[in-house]
Amino acid sequence: MNLVDDLARALAHGEIVPFFQPQLELNSGRVVAGEALARWQHPERGLLEPESFIQAAEDHGLIDELGIFMVDEAWKYAAGWIGRGLPVQVSVNASATQLESTGLTDHIAHLFDRYDLPAQTLTIEITETKAFVDAVGVSSRLRVLRERGLGISVDDFGAGYSTQERLDEVPATELKIDVTLVQDETDDGYRELIRIVELAHERGLRVVAEGVEDESQRRRVEILRCQRAQGYLLGRPMPAAEFGDLLAARR
Ligand code: C2E
Ligand code: MG
Ligand code: MG
Repeated sequence: MNLVDDLARALAHGEIVPFFQPQLELNSGRVVAGEALARWQHPERGLLEPESFIQAAEDHGLIDELGIFMVDEAWKYAAGWIGRGLPVQVSVNASATQLESTGLTDHIAHLFDRYDLPAQTLTIEITETKAFVDAVGVSSRLRVLRERGLGISVDDFGAGYSTQERLDEVPATELKIDVTLVQDETDDGYRELIRIVELAHERGLRVVAEGVEDESQRRRVEILRCQRAQGYLLGRPMPAAEFGDLLAARR
């Protein structure tokens, strides 16, 4: 079986779906946003996680199509929830490769032109995978969208390429602390966590702590005044319908 042919077919046949994982505002305890995470409902292999297909999509020129699809889905669901009186924001992941060409950012501009939703509804999370080839180009495209209200998040901060350098390269509005730091219970880990939250707050960025799995981790990021938290303790990634029910129940 050829994964790439299979993936191209999956995109065309609606087998790729977004799951949504809740993001909690720590002050109010409310679910204020959801991160869209790609899942592949494979007819034979069951539900596949991005680990098993995102890299293949990157390597074989399918990631642009996948990214545009995910943005469209996230936007469509957000419009539905907001239309039902359930205010929410959605985040979609984009790798460096996806921002290197103009396809995704042009598409987002088009969405903002065509539909009557606040641009603040959408945040793009820049995942780490690799360094930008044309950081200046990426940054200027993102800046245009940010001026219209798009949220721009630096994902997995504290891991790999997601460091201060990346923060200097993009017009960020948000910093997402990597799961490894949130879960690091050592003194060094705690000091690093404090340093990063301070850095983010100095720059006026919203801080989201990722990978919160237990109460002590939640308390720690709350004390440090991270604005939002996301993790298994607060909710796993779930199908869109379930996420909508969650928003309705917590209204
Ligand atoms: P990410 O953007 O950092 O997303 C968070 C990942 O952490 C998700 O894995 C989520 O299920 C997982 N997670 C959430 N809470 C916890 C927790 O409490 N503990 C732990 N250990 N993990 C937690 P998932 O869904 O497997 O996604 C993995 C990565 O795949 C994402 O990491 C993102 O980089 C990438 N990805 C997902 N969807 C897309 C997409 O549409 N486009 C692109 N380019 N990348 C995507
Ligand atoms: Mg992410
Ligand atoms: Mg992350």
